[in-house]
Amino acid sequence: MELQTTDSIRRAGRIGRAALASLFALILAVAPADAQVAGSRQGLAASQAIFQPPALPTPNTYRSASGAPGSEYWQQGADYRIEATLEPEAKRVTGRETIAYTNHSPEALDVLWLQLDQNLFAAHSRGAEITPPDRRFAGAFTGGGFELSDIRVERAGSPGRSGAATYVVDGTRMRITLDQPLEPGAGLALSLGFAFTIPQYGADRMGWMDAADGTVFELAQWYPRISVFDDVHGWNTLPYLGQGEFYLEYGSFDVELTVPHDLIVAATGTLTNPEQVLTAEQRRRLDRARGSRETVTIVDRNEVRTNASRPSGEGTLTWKFHAENVRDFSWAASSAFIWDAAGYDQTLIQSLYPKEGLGDASNPGWERATEYARHTIEFYSKTYFPYPYPSAINIAGIVRGMEYPQIVFCGVRARGRGLFGVTDHELGHSWFPMIVGSDERRHAWMDEGFNTFINYYSGLAFYGDSTARGSRMDPDTIASRMQQLIAAQAIETPADRVAGDALGFLQYRKTGAGLVLLREYVLGPDRFDPAFREYIRRWAYRHPQPADFFRTIENVTGEDLGWFWHGWFTSTGKFDVAITGVETAGDTTRVHLQNQGSLVMPVDLAVTHADGSVERRRVPVEAWYGGPDFLYVLTDGPVTSVTADPDRMLPDVDREDETWSGAP
Ligand SMILES: [Zn+2]
Repeated sequence: MELQTTDSIRRAGRIGRAALASLFALILAVAPADAQVAGSRQGLAASQAIFQPPALPTPNTYRSASGAPGSEYWQQGADYRIEATLEPEAKRVTGRETIAYTNHSPEALDVLWLQLDQNLFAAHSRGAEITPPDRRFAGAFTGGGFELSDIRVERAGSPGRSGAATYVVDGTRMRITLDQPLEPGAGLALSLGFAFTIPQYGADRMGWMDAADGTVFELAQWYPRISVFDDVHGWNTLPYLGQGEFYLEYGSFDVELTVPHDLIVAATGTLTNPEQVLTAEQRRRLDRARGSRETVTIVDRNEVRTNASRPSGEGTLTWKFHAENVRDFSWAASSAFIWDAAGYDQTLIQSLYPKEGLGDASNPGWERATEYARHTIEFYSKTYFPYPYPSAINIAGIVRGMEYPQIVFCGVRARGRGLFGVTDHELGHSWFPMIVGSDERRHAWMDEGFNTFINYYSGLAFYGDSTARGSRMDPDTIASRMQQLIAAQAIETPADRVAGDALGFLQYRKTGAGLVLLREYVLGPDRFDPAFREYIRRWAYRHPQPADFFRTIENVTGEDLGWFWHGWFTSTGKFDVAITGVETAGDTTRVHLQNQGSLVMPVDLAVTHADGSVERRRVPVEAWYGGPDFLYVLTDGPVTSVTADPDRMLPDVDREDETWSGAP
């Protein structure tokens, strides 16, 4: 639908341009007068369509017209208690969870929905069936999935009344029917047992890897999670198909993880029983790391698998973690971990990696990971919003790059700038979507794209050069990509519907580059930055929708940006401005500008005067209100050349027609 609309706009624009250009250029018209009028009307209609903002939902008391949470904004509460055991040999996790669920919505709930993400890895799951065999990673779709047991619902206030629940499992979703509605303001406790066999390579999000000193386990989507019930969709029950990520409620977690004695566990949250699971020396080293900018060794590479790395004893150990204001909980465990750490403000920054992650002087590896992570946490804290959590952990394993609250998984083989980049990106997700909890499955750009945008500046700050600009965010690169098939979908397309190859372009790069364009060119940092920070502040620990972002930026900057949201985010238009002619007469210069694409932008001009001085002018975006042709008139002296977009800030698909040079 979107493509057809854009095509028809472009067709209409072409007809309109021809007629309008002939009018403005004041040359003899060859078309009859009525055809000119019809053509100019079509051009005008096309320009009106370009300026039409995307259709946004009507503001209400939950979400205001200014983009802030409304006076009656609500979201559900979900606090988890989980006890689980890892059996490394069997590659099994077995556990039991209790979700304390509070209904803050204004409606009574008859049912609860849960997300059973592990069922993606069951044979012939809905996600497996649409994933090409060459991308069904080893062990990922070979008979995994949750085994559930003893599902019970207990009402708050009547602890004696606990009943076995009625439920239906449908792939990665489970619906539980309540025997009586959960009234607004009321709570209940849902408890269930679960177990699953860990896939080796779980959709590049979790799994296990055999290292020389033991298996590295990365556990995520490992417990049944309550679905989000919100004011926009009610229950959010889109299935987990693999490509689309997550949408989760905020709450607290108390998690007890029992593992063999020789494994070290890292997880979301604060370790609450360090004296039981760490040596006295390790606790001393962690205390030192907390106050250190420099990286401090917690487990040295020579201590791995020695008595020095574990407290005395045998059998199993239970590691206890507590986390607040998080939307998920993930963990890793291995006997192979080298461990180091540093501090920033109240946060302990940690890296755990097997020796396979080590690099050398010419190609540094994970021995520098904590330094990269510390930069990331400090840079985003100072630039956007203070990192609010006590821990930030990077794990090296089979997963190439995946984010969870306070813990991320990055590829063990990453080195150098690649390791910096993936660390910076995954920990950058702490802000989007861990702090600002958007719906990743429907609007992946609100976490991937915003993160790519902030990564650009973080990389710039760390390396002091434009690492991202050259290849990833450069407007000319974006322009050439926009002419390819991967740009055939709009950014605002649910992640599972985006063609696989296009996800990285649309949700990451085009979004990130669009925000760079908005910040550095359209609005300027002085106007953009406070608005972007305000969006984070307003929606921290909440569930923003695209309209909340668009409206916040418009309201804080005071700028109507409907044309930008429409052009960049909800359509597939390309930008192409041209200078089609320049007439000079004494002190007057008439510059004929033509918008040959289907996006509008303000256009900077570099004007060279006869005395050699160069003047900058900006043709504002409103120039295109009247159609695709605009006559810009300069009246202050003879001009020798005019260049449109002299700084190459715009993703112009045709740069051949942007400079006019008069006779010397
Ligand atoms: Zn990402």
